[in-house]
Amino acid sequence: MEHIKDLPLLQMTAESLMVSSEKVAHVQLNNPLEHALLILVTSGYSAIPVLDTRYKFKGIIGKNAILNEILGLERFEMERLSEVTVEDVLMRDIPSVNKSDHFLTCLKNVLDHPFLCVVDQEGNFDGIVTRREILKQLNKYIHVNKELFTELSEGEK
Ligand code: AMP
Repeated sequence: MEHIKDLPLLQMTAESLMVSSEKVAHVQLNNPLEHALLILVTSGYSAIPVLDTRYKFKGIIGKNAILNEILGLERFEMERLSEVTVEDVLMRDIPSVNKSDHFLTCLKNVLDHPFLCVVDQEGNFDGIVTRREILKQLNKYIHVNKELFTELSEGEK
C-alpha cells in the first residue's frame, strides 16, 4: 500500500488550490467602512482581504466587525460609515500561507477560518485558499481512493 506521505493530495500546494489575486474582492486600508460594506454586500462574502496601496496583505475585514464598530447605545450610527476607515477595524492577527505550503498546512489553518490568504516573503498578496476548495479536494481524494480507506479500516480489525 502506498505510504500516506507519498499521496498526491498531500503534495498539492497552496498555489494549485488558490483563487488568484485578480479574482479576489478586496478593500484597501484607507477606504471608508461604507465602501467595505458595499463590497461585502454586493459580493455576498462575509469577509474579504485588506491590502495596502502597494498590494501588501494587511488582514481581513468582515460585515460583523463593521456593524459592531458603528453600533451605538441605542442605534446604528450610520454616519460613522463614512468617518471610520478599514484600517481602524480590520483583523490583523490571522494566519496566512505561502504558495509553496502543502495541503496539510492549508487544511490545518482552514479549520478555524473559511478562507486563508496566500502571501509571499515580501508580504505581497497572491490570492486565497477557501475551505470549500480544501474540502472539495479531500472529498474527491476519498472517493477515488475508497479501497485504500477500506483496507485501512479492515487492518484495524
Ligand atoms: P466559499 O468557500 O467559496 O464560500 O468562500 C469562503 C469565503 O472565502 C467567503 O465567504 C469569502 O469570505 C472568501 N472568498 C471566497 N471567494 C472570494 C473572492 N473571489 N473574493 C473575496 N473573498 C472570497
